[in-house]
Parts: sequence; structure tokens; C-alpha cells
Amino acid sequence: MVTGHRFLGGFLGASEDVEKWVHNKVSIWTKSIERLSQAAKSKPHLANVSLTKSLQNEWNYVQRVVSNVEKPFTLLRLALESTYLPALFDSEVDSIESSLTLLSFRNGGLGIRDPVTTCSLAYSASKDGTKILTEAIQRGNSFDVDSHESHMRNSTKSARALKEQMEDDTAQKCISHLPQKRQRTINRIREGDCSTWLSVLPTHDNQFLMSADEFRDSIALRYGRSPTKMPGFCDGCSQPFDISHALDCKKGGLVIARHNESRDLNIELLKLSGLTQITKEPIVKESNSDGEGALRVDWGVRGFWDFQREALFDIRILNADAPSYLSNSLASIFDSARVEKKTKYSKAAEDRRASFTPFLSTCEAIFDHEAIVYLKKLSNLLSSKWDTSYSQVHGWLKARLQICILRSVSLCIRASRTKWRGAGIEHDAHIPLFKSPDLF
Ligand SMILES: [Zn+2]
Repeated sequence: MVTGHRFLGGFLGASEDVEKWVHNKVSIWTKSIERLSQAAKSKPHLANVSLTKSLQNEWNYVQRVVSNVEKPFTLLRLALESTYLPALFDSEVDSIESSLTLLSFRNGGLGIRDPVTTCSLAYSASKDGTKILTEAIQRGNSFDVDSHESHMRNSTKSARALKEQMEDDTAQKCISHLPQKRQRTINRIREGDCSTWLSVLPTHDNQFLMSADEFRDSIALRYGRSPTKMPGFCDGCSQPFDISHALDCKKGGLVIARHNESRDLNIELLKLSGLTQITKEPIVKESNSDGEGALRVDWGVRGFWDFQREALFDIRILNADAPSYLSNSLASIFDSARVEKKTKYSKAAEDRRASFTPFLSTCEAIFDHEAIVYLKKLSNLLSSKWDTSYSQVHGWLKARLQICILRSVSLCIRASRTKWRGAGIEHDAHIPLFKSPDLF
């Protein structure tokens, strides 16, 4: 006897039949998670985008149309915690970290929805949102599209607020169990609007695809974890090599390379916006007769803030977890860095009838408020040039700069601080080696 049947992507019938049907679906998704975990070992960035942008939407739909199915979904959560996350991080992930990663980007997560806690929320939001439509079908009432749409908007808004509150409670509870230093890092990430890079679709030709090391270093930084495969000592100065040393040791030019990468990208983006008079490292003040006191900034561009007026910029990417900053808030770290740069450059810039703007960012790509204003202005210019919506361009621009900073930060962790020595072979000196009869 048939006691249940699949209907419009859901299932209607006896509760045992519904649970069995959901259980079968969960088994299929669990296998998909296992396959995705295999892929995450070598391509963690692509695997996470596949999960957050595609796979999880399959079970989210089922959760919207079938009620009381938390139990089967615990298996899916288990697969995410025990198989997927360790493959993504390439290390063990404890229960507190798991709960943190299964949150939205804005709450410090990796955009993975917790399949258990979303069950009842998704169903009640869907049921409430379609209330007017359901009543019209059940009672044969006339259907008012405007009332339905208005009710749906309000219902979606309430559901979003409820979800936000639940996620915030979970995040705060998890963070409170972590050491003070990690609490400081994760709270900074949650408040800092630095997660756009996680939500973009990476491809080989749009410059958003991160290598396994780059992605893992970036998420390690996000959760205040020590990146995997860290060497014991710095190859530049032989000091113990921890994350703070990696980000601050100036030996080998990696910190300068981090700065230069972002400077060059800004110049490239300004050129794309249609501004033509852009100067790399313009001299703001010439040196005195002793050859001292010269000042130069990172880039200058004519007509950026004001018509035909030169706008000068200088960039600094700082490690907010450096030992000297640990007792300061991010706002005060940015304040003192901004004051330092303005004290150094503003007067000289004004003497040349130019404006000066410091561009400050942390190593996790949290931007200072003056940098945010600069990005908004640049987004405006680019959206006019490309005839594309401002919000699209602004998201793209933020992600582009965030990934540039995160890549160069990863370089500080992974690259060598010692110079490579050549073998000393010049021109064709090695050719006789290959001509030697002993080799053939
Ligand atoms: Zn060092």
C-alpha cells in the first residue's frame, strides 16, 4: 500500500516514509561530501565554492518543504565535521572551530550552513512566507499578488533577522571558549568586512583562484590558527618562525613585496578606470643639498578626488596581531598608522597643491575607513566606465584587493628569505658536459 509519494521536490505521506526518503537523500549528499573532501585535499578553494554555491542549496530546498527532519541531517553534519573540514584545513578541526566555520561569512564562518540548525528555520520561514498563497489554494479565496509579495518580503526579513541572531549567539558562545588572542582575531574578522573574496566564483582567468597553500593560509589567519607546514626557524634571520614573525620579518624582501603587489594592483585598477595621468612612486619633496629628506609616495593620480588636482596615496599593510599591537583595538592601530603617514606626507603634498590619502589595511584585508572611501570612489569610476552596476563592481574590486593582499601574505609565510645562488655556469659552458661520450 502506498503511504507516501514524492511531490514537487519534497515528500508527502506518513512520517516514517518522509524520514526514509530524507534519509536516502542525505546518504547521497553524504557521498557527495566525501567526494568533495577528496577534491578539497588538492583544491580547497574550489571545493568550498562548490559546497557553498551549489551542493548545500540542494538540501536547503528539501529543508524548506519537509518538516521535522533534523535527525537524518545529523549524519550530514557529521560528514562535514569529520571529513570535509579536516580536508579543507589539512589538519584536525575541533568542535568549536567546526561550529564557527558552519556560519555565514559575516559571522566569521566559511559560508557553510549547519544542516541541522537550519532545518526548522528553513521550514518555518517557507511556511510563513507562503501563508497567503496556501490559504488561497486551500479555501479557494481570490489571490492578491501584491499582499503575497509584501507578506513574503516581511517574512523573509524576519527569518533573516532570526537566523542572524541565532548565528551571532553561536559565534559568541564558541569564541568565548577560545584563548584571548584568538578571540581578538576572530572578533576583528567578524567586524571587519573582509570576506568578499570567499563569495566570488574563482576561475583560472579571473584571477580569483587561490592555490591550496594560499587558501589554507588565508583561512588559518581568519581563525587565528597557525598555518600548516610552518618551518621551525626563519631562513632569513634564524629566529623561531611563527605567524607573526612570518608577517613582520623584513629579511629577504617579502614584506616589501607584499606592499608592492598591492601598490601595483591599485595602479592597474586606476588605469582601468580611464584615468590616464598616473605616476608610480612620485617624488613629493626633493632631497636637500646633503641628499637627505626626499619624500616619495606609492602612487599619484590626477583628477581622482578633484578635477585636475593631483591625488597622492601611500599604502601600508599591517599585522594587527603583532606583539606590539596586542593591547590596542583595530581602530586605534589604524588611527596611529594614519596619523603617522599624514604627519610625514600631508604638508609636503599640500605644498605641491596635491591631496594625500593613506591606504591602510590589515593582513586579513580589513580596510581602514579612508581606504574604504577610496574604494567607493574607484568603484564609481569603474562602474561608469564599464556601464555596470556599482554594487557588482564594488564587490569585484574588494575581492580583487583582498585576494591580492592574502596572496602576498601567504608569500611571507611560504617563500624563501634567502637568495638563490646560481651554479656559476655562463653561456655555453655546460654544453661540453652533454657532449661527453661518457653520457651516451
Ligand atoms: Zn626572520
